[in-house]
Amino acid sequence: MGYFAARQAQTTLPCPDCGQPLLVERSCREAHMLCPCCRRRYDLKPFIAKADEALESFLEGLYLDRI
Ligand SMILES: [Zn+2]
Repeated sequence: MGYFAARQAQTTLPCPDCGQPLLVERSCREAHMLCPCCRRRYDLKPFIAKADEALESFLEGLYLDRI
């Protein structure tokens, strides 16, 4: 397996709905935010502007993985 990047990472960004910290998760072609509490998925775009370190490094891994 040549995959370095994790499929999921814990971020500190709060869920817009319940305030719990969101996970970032990727599927084969895209990534989205996932709330472990209310099981909602959110579009990644609104979160990128306020990305924390965990999300940033996850996205870096995501892009590296695509090359
Ligand atoms: Zn939630």
